[in-house]
Formats: sequence, structure tokens, C-alpha cells
Amino acid sequence: MEISNIQIEKVNHQIETLVAADSFYGKKLKDAGLMHINNQDEFEKLPFSEKKDLREAYPLDLMTAPEKDIVRIHSSSGTTGLPVIIPYTAKDVDDWAIMFKRCYEMAGITNMDRIQITPGYGLWTAGIGFQNGAEKLGAMVIPMGPGNTDKQLQMMMDMKSTVLCSTSSYALLLAEEIEKRGIKEHIHLKKGVIGSERWGEAMRKRISSELGIELYDIYGLTEIYGPGIGINCKFDTGMHYWDDYIYIEIIDPVTLKPVPDGEMGEVVITTLVKEGAPLIRYRTHDLSCIIPGECPCGSKYPRLGTIMGRTDDMMKIKGVNVFPSQIEEILKEFPVLSSEYQIRISHLDGKDTMRIYVETNGSVDFAELSKQIAERVKSRIGFTPLVKVVEVGVLPRSEKKTKRVIDERYE
Ligand code: ZN
Repeated sequence: MEISNIQIEKVNHQIETLVAADSFYGKKLKDAGLMHINNQDEFEKLPFSEKKDLREAYPLDLMTAPEKDIVRIHSSSGTTGLPVIIPYTAKDVDDWAIMFKRCYEMAGITNMDRIQITPGYGLWTAGIGFQNGAEKLGAMVIPMGPGNTDKQLQMMMDMKSTVLCSTSSYALLLAEEIEKRGIKEHIHLKKGVIGSERWGEAMRKRISSELGIELYDIYGLTEIYGPGIGINCKFDTGMHYWDDYIYIEIIDPVTLKPVPDGEMGEVVITTLVKEGAPLIRYRTHDLSCIIPGECPCGSKYPRLGTIMGRTDDMMKIKGVNVFPSQIEEILKEFPVLSSEYQIRISHLDGKDTMRIYVETNGSVDFAELSKQIAERVKSRIGFTPLVKVVEVGVLPRSEKKTKRVIDERYE
């Protein structure tokens, strides 16, 4: 997606404040002599920023606005090392609420809805993001936070909550409890706004049918405000994102060059109006694509595809970048296959090879099926894998998440 002139103007303003604040990124720009951009090419010369840079700025070196203007910090829940601290000005907090309000509106939620919020409140951005957006919308908030399922369900019934904000796993747990307790007729939910995890189509269908609600995926990350920077509409053709607040590019994670719209790669985000901690070309390591064309809903906001995983999962086979989720998507198109599969990457005779093991029952021609799958991978991704079809039950199964991709090149 080309950067527009308005966006370029906003990026230049972000650059000015970063340089003036002498932050890590401001210094980087100054050293590189890149303090003003005029077009796409020049934008693409700006250095990336990474989570590592943000960690090194701990505790408050990301602060770009004067301290008197900072009203709050949030922190990302890093599993390793130092957390990332993001300072917000009052305008940042308000901008985030405006974006989140748009998300609710995109999902058809109004000020007559009653929104039950189950993500956590505190240092991280989840609960409070859902809350501020809902208040901006003028809806009634039921700020539950996570856990305490008994109370959660009681309030859901008594308050007649119409919208559930939750992670996918907690939504599933609630759906199962409602079923188990036989209280479905007392539940008034119509919509679910689900954030922060990658979740499969099967889980989505289960939550949606068990709760009888429409589901909306919300996108966001603490480094860029928090959840609320994008959401799918009812046509479910990707997540609309707010391009007056952020600019999104998709890059090849190896060459770091932008890829054309429609092609899969790493999501890189530039904030356009952030004050507390602006970020230029921030590498999210999330994997997705820009969806080309217009959405049937008529919205002019561009669309980001479903997050397909992390770029860390990427493999390079015969010079082509491949993500396990791409193979998974293709296998799903063959209804005769079971849901089990295994992908093995090896290095044989100086070449990388991918073998895909799939399962089916005995009623189909294994050789023919293997040929069809290999051809589809070739036409879709650009290289031919070796496909081995086996009987259902042959591939390993375990209680824990089965390891489906085995890279023998590094073993
Ligand atoms: Zn739409």
C-alpha cells in the first residue's frame, strides 16, 4: 500500500519530534542524515525499529513528549528480559479510544449495547483499551476483568450483556460453561470482540455456534497503542485498520524489502500522530498481507489479512519463503484429508526439500491425491514439495500440541 502525501507529512512531523527528543530512534535518524522524507522511496530508507531497541530504552527512554504531558504508561508482557514501557499523552489515550470506538462501530455495536469486558486491567493494554473505546461510544460497560467464571456468568445474565470482549480461549471456556450449566436461554450476547491470540477457524466456529454470536477479530499491540487499531467488518474479508493513525507496510522478513499487496510477509507499522512514544517502521513479527481492492461494506479503510502466525516460523525452501500456515491453508482445501499432517524440511544433495505427510481414509487414490496436493503447493507458493499420503492414524498424535513442522536441517 503506497504511502499517501498526508501520511508523509505526518511521518515528517513524527521524525521532527523524535529528533528533538534525542531518543534512540531520533539519534539513529540524525546519524543517518534522514530527517525529512518526500516520497515512498525515501520513506523506505528509514531504519526499522525493533522490540530489542524498545527494551534497551527501559525504563523511560522512549518518552518523546515532555514529562508534564505524559499521563500514563503501559507495558508489554515480555516473557524474557526487560519489559517495554510505552508512555502515553492525554491525546494518545484519546486517539486510542477514538480508534477503539471505530472498531465497535465497524462491528455494528452501538451506545445501546452492554459490553462485558473480560481481558485484564493494569499495566497491559487490554482491559482499559476495551473500556475507553466503549465509553467513547457511549455504551454501558461491565468491567469484569479476567477469571471468576461464576460471577462472570451471573453478571452476564443479570446485566443482560450483549457484547463479550475476551480472548478466544476465555470465550470458549465461557461457551462451554454456559452449555454445561444449561443457562443459554438467559444469555443475551449478540456479538463477541475477540483479541490478542491467533485462533483457528474450528475454534471460531465453535465459539460462534455455541454462544450464537457474531465474532469480530480485533488487532493491536502495546507498542502501537494496544488493541483497537483494526477489526474485521461483517463481511469478514480482513481487518480494516485506521490509516489516519497508522501506516502499515508488509515486508519480506529476509530481504526486508516491501512485498506487493496481497503477498504474505511481516507487518511493519509506523505511527502517524503518536506523541508519547512515536514508532517508525516498527517490526511486529506478525505475519499477514494487505488485502487489495475494496471491501463490500464500502469502507475506505484498507484491510490487513488475518494474522497467520509469527515470522519466526518462516522457512526458506528452494529460495522461496514459506510459512507453515500457508501449507496448512492449502491442506484444508482437501476435504478427504484428516486434520493431522506433518511437514519435514531436510537438506539433501545440496538442496532444501520439503516433505508433507498427510492422512486420508482408504477410499481415494493415494498417488493421485499426492500429485494434486503437490501441484497446488507449486501453483500457490512456487515450489514442488514431496507429498506422502498415509492411512488415517499413522501420523503421531499427542496430548500436547503436536509438533507438526520438523526442520531436520538444524537437528
Ligand atoms: Zn468491510
